[in-house]
Amino acid sequence: MDPPRLTVFSTPLISTWVLDETHRVLFDAGDGVSAMLEGKIHKANTIALTHAHRDHIAGLPQILNLRGGTAAENGEPLRVIHPDGSGSFMAIARFLSHFDQMTSGKVKWQHWKPGSQMALDDGRFLRSYATRHVACPDPARNRSLGYQIGRHVERLKPELRNLPQAELDTLRNAGGREAITVREEEILFTITGDTAAMTPQDLGGCRFLLHECTFLDVDEERVTEAKDRGHEHSYLSEVLDLALLADVERLALYHISKRYTDDEIVKAVRAGCAKRDLKCRVSVALPGRLYIDLFSQAVWPGRG
Ligand SMILES: [Zn+2]
Ligand SMILES: [Zn+2]
Repeated sequence: MDPPRLTVFSTPLISTWVLDETHRVLFDAGDGVSAMLEGKIHKANTIALTHAHRDHIAGLPQILNLRGGTAAENGEPLRVIHPDGSGSFMAIARFLSHFDQMTSGKVKWQHWKPGSQMALDDGRFLRSYATRHVACPDPARNRSLGYQIGRHVERLKPELRNLPQAELDTLRNAGGREAITVREEEILFTITGDTAAMTPQDLGGCRFLLHECTFLDVDEERVTEAKDRGHEHSYLSEVLDLALLADVERLALYHISKRYTDDEIVKAVRAGCAKRDLKCRVSVALPGRLYIDLFSQAVWPGRG
């Protein structure tokens, strides 16, 4: 299976957004999203927002004004999902609903907690999980969310996996498909939004990972910045370690600080991948650039 087709623009502090054309979800809506996507804004049926920092939401008034009054292709109103614990989103939803009543006012606003989910086409689902970016006193109501897209698959029961086909056929003839299979979840895609590095447990066996990577390595600036603002980010070595441990099939990095040159970023990523002999292909969304199909453009080809 191919990774989702992602159009990506991501410069921390300026603008970040990711259109998953395969699943018709726009993740975040930073400044300029409507201008850069043009007609493609109609490809999103859902806008899923990770947190209320301005560089992730400043494009919202414009895209909702253009899209809010027209139903998505499935006939449903455009949905805007945001973290339940964020008062900023309540304020934005209230304001935009009144400011552009005929457009943004028709949008279906949804406040999600970690673990909320909705059905997508083809039996797939979109689900949120808690990220570690904006502190929230109530852990059940996070202020920052990441999102996963998954599907349900029927797999042979683990205890039957070594049986010859003839025996499996006998079992199935006697008890039906349920006698030999279990319904399992497969996580296809994970997008992190801004966060300190996730763990393999957070990813749940995800195949295609788009992880933020604000900093190339631990440095003083990172520590100072995190302390000053209380907003944690990830650095390259953590994310590459995660890709290795979680055995992801494809890794893409985004939300990389503009303090580094393109050359520094690509060199650091290649060196980090080589050091770990990383099996997966790695793509990089350099800051300030527009990518049409991010996963198709690899800076590290992967081993094997
Ligand atoms: Zn950000
Ligand atoms: Zn942020």
